[in-house]
Amino acid sequence: MRHRIIVLGAGYTGAIVAGRLARRLRREDVAITLVNAEPDFVERVRMHQVAVGQDLRPRPFGEMFAGTGVELRLAKVTGVDVERKTVAVADASGAGELAYDTLVYALGSGWNAQGVPGTAEHAYEIAGRPGALRLRERLAGLEAGQAVVVVGGGLTGLEAATEIAEARPDLDVSLAVRDGLGDWLSPKGREHLWKVVGGLGITVYEHAAVTGVEADRVAIADGRAVAAAVTVWTAGFAVHPIAKATSLEVTGAGQIVVDGTMRSVSHPDVYAVGDAAMAMGPGGKPLRMSCASGTPAAWQAADAIAARLTGGKLPNVPIRYFNQCISLGRKEGLIQYVTADDRAVRAVLTGRLAAVYKELVCKGAAWGVANPLFGLPVRRRRVVRERVAADAAVKASA
Ligand SMILES: Cc1cc2nc3c(=O)[nH]c(=O)nc-3n(C[C@H](O)[C@H](O)[C@H](O)COP(=O)(O)OP(=O)(O)OC[C@H]3O[C@@H](n4cnc5c(N)ncnc54)[C@H](O)[C@@H]3O)c2cc1C
Repeated sequence: MRHRIIVLGAGYTGAIVAGRLARRLRREDVAITLVNAEPDFVERVRMHQVAVGQDLRPRPFGEMFAGTGVELRLAKVTGVDVERKTVAVADASGAGELAYDTLVYALGSGWNAQGVPGTAEHAYEIAGRPGALRLRERLAGLEAGQAVVVVGGGLTGLEAATEIAEARPDLDVSLAVRDGLGDWLSPKGREHLWKVVGGLGITVYEHAAVTGVEADRVAIADGRAVAAAVTVWTAGFAVHPIAKATSLEVTGAGQIVVDGTMRSVSHPDVYAVGDAAMAMGPGGKPLRMSCASGTPAAWQAADAIAARLTGGKLPNVPIRYFNQCISLGRKEGLIQYVTADDRAVRAVLTGRLAAVYKELVCKGAAWGVANPLFGLPVRRRRVVRERVAADAAVKASA
């Protein structure tokens, strides 16, 4: 019987793991199933572009995985039973169950309303395609002069506010940030950000913790209220509750705690990658929810699984940060160079060149999903069953 590997979620990280494993292991030894709710790859890093009406190139999984041996199962994951080693799924034909020998959990994240009153009812979000399309429809229906408030001064908030202001200069766009605008950036980076934001006519509310969202305004902790025909909520991501409902060791937020090989610290036959995982990165800091760290983590997970199944040497893919790439509309950008553990250094790239750089990074990320070996030769190795049994026994007795 073939070793059954099930990968949950075909976002940036899950799709890489599945594709890379398929190029590392022999088809007669493993059955790799990739479960995803949607039939095509979603470039999540471009959801602010979708929200303002830009159309992205379709990337159907059918084409992406053609000839690789990865079997795509279009279904919604509704639960995982790590004791019985099964995954519950639901699709148009009803509910079903899939059994695994190795599970890779990569369900990503969604928006995080953070329990702020009125947010779930009134705010729009861009953490995924359905949210971005809903916002797109709403923005298209706005008349000149109407107010849009983007809540959140992180990378997603900056990208959303500038994209909306650039695409719809007739709207009154503002940005509410909890601390100072871009206060984690270098002085040069911050200066450039202020210049672009000012040039686009965006009003910035600093030190503005939003405490409530209503249909026509947002309330700020210090008593201010900002008029908003549309509120776009970008204040962080939250993971899906599926992992938390299992006996896997998870953080308070529900991310699966993994070791340096992205293997669950509580269940050796489960791996987790991307936003759904809590792995330590450089400087002993948890990896941030991002493609920047999720992509190398996915390579690490795939190579570790392959090594354990084939008796190869465990990989040590370096995971570190190089830069934060921020689009500021289509014509402007900011590349903030950072230390290995993600702290800003002096160097930045700005302007048109930074916009082009960011565009190449987004294109590269999608290309990397379809080409998870980066052009290296495909070498499928034989699964060594005794190795798998021995590894499981060692883990169980640890
Ligand atoms: C607007 C925006 C801009 C961003 N910009 C950047 C950036 O510039 N740089 C950067 O590094 N990061 C950026 N990010 C963050 C980045 O997109 C995420 O960290 C990354 O997508 C995480 O990858 P993932 O594979 O863990 O999850 P995802 O890419 O979210 O993939 C999860 C997959 O699981 C599927 N799924 C989820 N639940 C289920 C279910 N129950 N059943 C079946 N399938 C399911 C989803 O459909 C999806 O295909 C941005 C995010 C957003 C929203």
